[in-house]
Order: sequence, then C-alpha cells, then structure tokens
Amino acid sequence: ATPTALMVGVGRSAQLGILIKGPEALEASRAVDTVVLDKTGTLTTGTMTVVETHAADEVGTGEVLRLAGAVETGSEHPIGKAIAERARDELGDLPSPEDFTAVPGFGAHADVDGVRVVVGNERLLAERDIPVPPELAERLRRAQSRAATAVVVAVDGRAIGVLVLRDQLKPSASAAVATLREMGLRTVLLTGDTEAAARTVAGELGIDEVLAGVLPADKARTIDRLRENGARVAMVGDGINDGPALAGADLGMAIARGSDIAVRSADMVLVREDLRVVPDAIRLANRTLTTIR
Ligand code: ADP
Ligand code: MG
Repeated sequence: ATPTALMVGVGRSAQLGILIKGPEALEASRAVDTVVLDKTGTLTTGTMTVVETHAADEVGTGEVLRLAGAVETGSEHPIGKAIAERARDELGDLPSPEDFTAVPGFGAHADVDGVRVVVGNERLLAERDIPVPPELAERLRRAQSRAATAVVVAVDGRAIGVLVLRDQLKPSASAAVATLREMGLRTVLLTGDTEAAARTVAGELGIDEVLAGVLPADKARTIDRLRENGARVAMVGDGINDGPALAGADLGMAIARGSDIAVRSADMVLVREDLRVVPDAIRLANRTLTTIR
C-alpha cells in the first residue's frame, strides 16, 4: 500500500464526517457488496418512549410501571432507560432494585420490595417458564405488527403487564437505504427485536432482507455465515451487542454516539447522525482500495 493514497482517503473522509482507524482498517476491507444494518440505535434514534402501559385484570397500570421502572433504574439499555424515565415522571421516586441482572437480548430482572420482577421479551418469559395470559399476548402481537417494541412485566413468576415502546426512524434512514440499493448493494436488517417489528421497519425503508430475533452473541456468527457464503460485508451498528459483529465484518462502521465497545471494534466511526454518510463511507473505502492497488 502506498501511504499517500491512504492519506488522501483519510483526509477526504474527515470532511465527510468519517473517522478511519488507521490505514490497516481499510486494507482489510475488500470491496463490499452487502450492508448489514442494526435496527435500534442505528436505523432508529435509539431514544425509546413508553407509549402504552397495559395491566392484567387484577393489578393497576401504576403498579406495573412502578415495578418495571424500579428494575430498570439499573439498566443501560435504551428500553430500560425509557421505562425508568417514564416511571419516574409519572410516579416520582422509585424503590431501589436489589440484585439487578441484565440479560442481553432478553431483558432484565431484580428484587423490588421483596418480590422478583422480570422485565423483558417473550423469549425471556418462556425461558423462565412464565406463561403470558392471552389478553397480554394479544397486546404484544398488536404492538409488534406496528413495529413497536413490547416487553412483559412479571412478578414472582406471573405476568402482570405489558409496556409498549416506540422508537423513531432516523429521518435520513430511507434516503441512505435507497442510495445503497442504487449502488447495487444488498441490504440486510439485523436485530434482536422480533420478526414482526423488524419486517415492518424493513418494509418502510425498502431493506431487502431481515434477520430478526438474533441474540447479541449470535450477531457475529451471522456476519461470519454471510461471509462464508461469499458476501463481502459492511456492518453498521451502535450497541455493546454489535462489537463482535463490527469486528468480524469486512468493513465495520460504528455510529459515533454508540457504545465504546462498538466504536473500539469498528474500522470506521461515523461522526454525524445522518445515515447518508454510510453510502459515502462505502464508496470511499472502495475508492481508496482501488487507488492503493
Ligand atoms: P437490537 O438488536 O435491536 O439493538 P437488543 O438485542 O439490545 O436489540 O434487545 C433485544 C430485545 O431484548 C429487545 O427488543 C427487548 O425485547 C429485550 N430487552 C433487552 N434489554 C431489555 C431491558 N433492559 N428491558 C426490557 N427488555 C429488554
Ligand atoms: Mg442497537
């Protein structure tokens, strides 16, 4: 590689709002043909808000929010933060959780006022053998068909409520995806969220393929599998979850406001919130490589 060619690439990239982790980062990236996009925090703002609280017959919605909010006081996850914030806004001070445990890709649980409270997706409930009564299951399905994220709240092994959260697509997401497709690139949505929620977002944005319900530990394996099948993969992500997948992609791109782990694992860091920088970055990587060779 000629150092001059690399410096040109790096100088241009800075103007576009792209930080490149040294010349080796680009040398490793073969010309990309597939772009894998994380959903929460990458295509969406990642700022969730609770839009609905549902309670099983025998409890009030205030109690659902109080217990869930108390658990999530300890959470770093956008969903957890949104639940704690809404609970504090509506109810004031919350009880302190004890023995808080985050289960990445599933949810969280903690002791609140002497009871074990679980907040998370259906997968987490199933794993802990907690049944979801039909009226709450119906709430989950309705939320997912609208691309909303819904979590169940359970107390001592009994589901007592459902919280529905909404996240906004970034305004630039649809233009970015359109440009990627015009460039002839295959686009893939990769998320830990449900198939229904993911399909709705992919449909709105025109993304070709959906890989949903992927556990954090499996995101990297998913990238490996695409590469084994001959794809040259760029991955765009923001979360702690996305670190290994970003590191395993031919070209890993982290959203700058994302987690430290994502930023550390990536080849490129996208400084601007505007996702149209993703096609710019891929063009730049490809062009820089051509110049080097
Ligand atoms: P993504 O891949 O879209 O960034 P994650 O893998 O972080 O999503 O999370 C997947 C799912 O796990 C969420 O959609 C949610 O159902 C559940 N979940 C994760 N963390 C929490 C939490 N702190 N509280 C409740 N549910 C959670
Ligand atoms: Mg994410």
